[in-house]
Amino acid sequence: MSDALRLEDVSVDYTVGGKARTVLKGLSLSIAPGEAYGLVGESGCGKSTAALAAVRYLARNGKVSAGRILIDGRDLMGLSASDLRGLRSRTVAMVYQDPGRALNPSLKIARQMTEVFEVAEGLRGQAAEARALEMLARVQIANPARVMGAYPHELSGGMQQRVVIAMALSINPKLLILDEPTTGLDATVEAEILDLIVALRRDYATAILMISHSLSVIAHVCDRVGVLYAGELVEEGPAAEIFAQARHPYTVALLRCLPERGRLKSQGPLETIPGFLPAPGAIQDGCVYAPRCPIARDRCRAERPPLYDLGGRVSRCHYWEAAPAIPRQTVAFAAARPVSQVLPVLKVRDLSKTYTVDGKAFQASRDISLDLWAGETLGLVGESGSGKSTLAKLLLGLAAPDAGSTIEMEGEALPPRAKTRSRAQLKALQMVFQNPGLALNRSHSVRRLIDRAMRLTGALPARREEKLAVLAHEVRLTGPQLDEKPRRLSGGLKQRVGIARAFASEPQIVVCDEPTSALDVSVQAAILNLLVDLQAKQQVSYIFISHDLGVVNYLADRVAVLFLGRVLETGPTRAVFAAPHHPYTEALVSASPAISREGVARIRLHGEIPSAAAPPPGCVFNTRCPRKIGPICETEAPPARDAGAGHVIACHIPVAELAILQSSSSGAA
Ligand code: SF4
Ligand code: SF4
Repeated sequence: MSDALRLEDVSVDYTVGGKARTVLKGLSLSIAPGEAYGLVGESGCGKSTAALAAVRYLARNGKVSAGRILIDGRDLMGLSASDLRGLRSRTVAMVYQDPGRALNPSLKIARQMTEVFEVAEGLRGQAAEARALEMLARVQIANPARVMGAYPHELSGGMQQRVVIAMALSINPKLLILDEPTTGLDATVEAEILDLIVALRRDYATAILMISHSLSVIAHVCDRVGVLYAGELVEEGPAAEIFAQARHPYTVALLRCLPERGRLKSQGPLETIPGFLPAPGAIQDGCVYAPRCPIARDRCRAERPPLYDLGGRVSRCHYWEAAPAIPRQTVAFAAARPVSQVLPVLKVRDLSKTYTVDGKAFQASRDISLDLWAGETLGLVGESGSGKSTLAKLLLGLAAPDAGSTIEMEGEALPPRAKTRSRAQLKALQMVFQNPGLALNRSHSVRRLIDRAMRLTGALPARREEKLAVLAHEVRLTGPQLDEKPRRLSGGLKQRVGIARAFASEPQIVVCDEPTSALDVSVQAAILNLLVDLQAKQQVSYIFISHDLGVVNYLADRVAVLFLGRVLETGPTRAVFAAPHHPYTEALVSASPAISREGVARIRLHGEIPSAAAPPPGCVFNTRCPRKIGPICETEAPPARDAGAGHVIACHIPVAELAILQSSSSGAA
């Protein structure tokens, strides 16, 4: 039987400014029918180019400059435009990161789904509708009829992605290309979509090419994995073997950038990959990874390594035997001062926020009470819509809370709106945004952006210049980078600018809203290290919002778990992420491979997150709770139960019983 996809020595060039730049160099790979193959690597390594080249969907300035591409045995390079279109529409389906972009916002799902069957199978009316309903059921949508009657914006991100996958599978493709299909989704939804992909592949024997920057996503779905670096395949083999023992220094480094299972900041910095990816099209003698490789020798710089055959796997490294034993980096953080618990730097009591949309009131935050101590990191976790970002807005004065809410900073009431706060209060509370590109003024140089923020301290220009030099050194921005406009910098450098700007006013509290979720793992590690280092030196406190429980576990001293604008659990991070914990936290942890216990089955949360406009009575989690104990959960708000050492769980189940339930169960519910 022919391979579902076969790339033979494929090179791709992009023409930029009249010059051809080779971004994919001699890539060969094959995917057997029913096999799942993952491509990993940092941004700019050529993953998406490889996926687009596989179906000859390159941008107008891109071309396959060498090699052969075969889908189901047919050579794409020899096909006419109409034959190529025909092959694509019958044999290949693609699912991209943002399902919202794949769906037409002005058409109901029914129209979009039936259209697929009209084109693919010539069905009309009820017959097309019946097939559409069947397809939605196949992707485990519980109420296909309701979804058919909805517009895309009425569906959650996870539900939209299910619809897109249903549309992709409706042609019964031989090859399904998934490009970051779960990026941007909550951990619980991501886990569901990945389970769905695994099940569909098992049931329908569809071959999968999966592109992801997330190594755990690839590990979950794929049989084999290929690692790309600077447009070259540097390692390939069975996913389990590569993740257990990588044989290329780049793969080793990528795997070590992630916080290992359960690693804490007190155990030292995360490993990073020094240096940068070579510019696209850069020509280099020898091994492309040599400038960043800790074990590079003279031979590496002179002689390009071939793909060495290691028996069932390959590595493009002359010294592949030495890769697993590369010594770990041993730098340490500056010694952290102990967290001070004399007076909370921030004290929040009964914080609520009600919005009115289309005449309907909904509470985005409800009765939130928290303390933040000097030098401490408080993690905020929860799915989209849990109220994490609303809480950040209220703290920063970007929205005013409801009457009766109080926010105090160092014992003094903080006015609700930023515009009525004093200069000292504004300077003390800063923010690092998820998307630094959007948050930075594009017309100013980095130097000017940081200097403007520094003016809040009242320092004179000469003093500001001195301080800017110190700060730039701390966040590792060079002189030339300070003179650049932010748009000319990479994502990681932009985030360093965002951090420098937040620290320019010498804040006491920095709210970090998903600061690393758009970054590669190597850049993420460097940014997290930077945050810990600055905290140790300056005793600053962080409110750290993230959907990545592995990152929160590494960074946060304490954590608050939010659902529908309420805090369901709070306490020291280790206590909250280990049983006994709230049933919602239990489900979140089980969906996060970075911190779940090995062998613990994932808990599936059924149903959608309820609307904040009509929260369920009793416990707000009762419509999804796998451990619901009875009518009391639907009628009475649960008590806040003390689990010791500042650990509080809002649940009708007593803590001792939760401990028994959660230790005796494998987690399956
Ligand atoms: S060939 Fe040399 S430089 Fe390249 S990855 Fe191997 S050891 Fe490092
Ligand atoms: S109160 Fe009931 S519904 Fe809520 S988390 Fe506890 S067991 Fe589940």
